Amino acid sequence: MTRRVVVVGAGIVGLATAWQISRADPDVEVVVVDKETAIAQHQTGRNSGVIHSGVYYVPGSNKAEMCRRGRAQLLAFVAEHGIAHDLCGKVVVAVEDAERGALQTIAERGRANGVSCDLIGPAALAEIEPAVRGVEALRVDDAGIVDFGGVARQLARLVTDAGGELRLGAEVLDGHEGPDGVVLETTTGDVHGDLLVACAGLHSDRLLATMTGEEPPVTIVPFRGEYHRLTEGARDLCRALIYPVPDPRFPFLGVHLTRHVSGEVLAGPNAVLALDREGYSWGDRSWRELRAVAGHPGMRILARTHWRTGLGEMYRSLSRAAFARALQRMTPDIDADDLLPWRAGVRAQAIFPDGTLADDFVLHTTRRAVHVLNAPSPAATAALAIGETLANRALSLS
Ligand SMILES: Cc1cc2nc3c(=O)[nH]c(=O)nc-3n(C[C@H](O)[C@H](O)[C@H](O)COP(=O)(O)OP(=O)(O)OC[C@H]3O[C@@H](n4cnc5c(N)ncnc54)[C@H](O)[C@@H]3O)c2cc1C
Repeated sequence: MTRRVVVVGAGIVGLATAWQISRADPDVEVVVVDKETAIAQHQTGRNSGVIHSGVYYVPGSNKAEMCRRGRAQLLAFVAEHGIAHDLCGKVVVAVEDAERGALQTIAERGRANGVSCDLIGPAALAEIEPAVRGVEALRVDDAGIVDFGGVARQLARLVTDAGGELRLGAEVLDGHEGPDGVVLETTTGDVHGDLLVACAGLHSDRLLATMTGEEPPVTIVPFRGEYHRLTEGARDLCRALIYPVPDPRFPFLGVHLTRHVSGEVLAGPNAVLALDREGYSWGDRSWRELRAVAGHPGMRILARTHWRTGLGEMYRSLSRAAFARALQRMTPDIDADDLLPWRAGVRAQAIFPDGTLADDFVLHTTRRAVHVLNAPSPAATAALAIGETLANRALSLS
């Protein structure tokens, strides 16, 4: 009998999963359900567009393994389908001696993860990025840029060409697993399947809670990442990808400069607590969300421990001059007047009840469903590998 798999979420992870299912077993029926009327409207369509090399991740972690595998699959995919990309390489820059130790750790992780990278001095750095100042840098050859929206569109095309269905504008309100399968109640009617893969990004924890009636193991905290784009006159300040040494206490990379496939140079993203799951600006706020965040034990611990960092991020969000000062540490010639507004994205970052931000991808399996509960960066780079893992895991459920 033909099996039917329902995938919730037409972001890059859901679409990659649907495609990998149709490749693994062409006899399986696949339906992708999304609440938006177009694909890739959230994290997938609002990110930096960077192909991550895998340099930062703990060797042996899901992130390290899936980034390595997914990056290779992504490069083959974009070459085959003619999607815009450029393996331009990047530099991670230590601007003071105190950052050399952390840079060394990243270099060691990178090598352990099989990434082509080298520590270089100021003269070699100046040859790669003349506008950047640093005491030492890590040159990473395996990083690049890509049109993730284009990847998502191509995946959607391949899924429907293989007979899959894309049901857009259908928000999943409720659902349950029974002995005979899965039923999702959506705004456009019930959707039935034998199996479910939930890739609901910013709403992934709530979908699991709704379906099981149980407290999910993690809660999503929405961290907004705001960008500016550089004026045309300032674009020469960045040739490729320029990153600071990240603060190891957080799973974010620090405000950086990235050349985008559109030709723009982006500055950002910062990491500000958003006031709603889809809080793309300070005006988007939900009291329900704020109450939930304030009442979460892990969030209270996080706020107590890192309130100073949080306030700094808010200040840089509200002051363009402060945002520019953060960039000037690496690129002294950038000025606040060089920064123009650009869209923001919101990261679906999971937190554990003890206040730890989940550092790795988190998948949760029930009898008939696999839920993705934490797939922030580098999940766009790793999507084809995550999708392959999810497809195999779902198809192995009875
Ligand atoms: C600011 C920012 C910068 C980033 N930069 C990079 C980068 O440079 N490189 C990189 O590799 N990664 C980057 N990432 C991470 C990357 O974008 C995400 O990891 C990836 O897009 C996650 O894809 P997804 O499909 O899981 O989530 P999403 O793209 O968010 O998709 C989830 C989908 O689920 C749908 N959905 C949710 N709830 C429901 C419901 N109840 N019913 C129906 N549909 C529902 C949503 O509408 C959405 O379409 C960045 C992320 C952000 C936010």
